[in-house]
Amino acid sequence: MTDLETDVLELIRSRPEGILQSELWKELDVDSRKCSRVVKKLEEDGLIERIECKKGSTKTFLLTAKKTAKEINPAHLLAGDELIPCVGCELECIVTQCHPLMDWMYQLAIVQHSRK
Ligand code: SF4
Repeated sequence: MTDLETDVLELIRSRPEGILQSELWKELDVDSRKCSRVVKKLEEDGLIERIECKKGSTKTFLLTAKKTAKEINPAHLLAGDELIPCVGCELECIVTQCHPLMDWMYQLAIVQHSRK
C-alpha cells in the first residue's frame, strides 16, 4: 500500500459517519484525479465503500471504511473440546429456538463450572 493510500484510508477510517470524496482530496491537499484512483483502488480491495450522492447540484461519493473482522480467539468457540455448532451450520437459523446451540451452551456451562 502506498503512503497516499494509507493516508486516504486512515482519514476515511477516522470518520465513522463517512467523508465526501469531494472533501477528501481537499483535506489531503492532493490532486482530485489522483485521489479518485486511490479511492477506486481501496474500494476494489474491499477496504472502503463508495456511495454515490449529491452535494448541492454536484455529484460526489460518500466514502466509509468497511469494518474489518476482529481476530477470533478459537478458544471462545469451544465448550471443552466441542466446537460451537454454528461453524459450518446449514440449518435455518432461529437462534432462540436452536437446540444444537442450547446443547452446546449447556456443555459450556458444565465445562466452566467444573473449572471452578
Ligand atoms: S444458532 Fe443454531 S441454527 Fe443458528 S447457526 Fe448456530 S447452530 Fe446453526
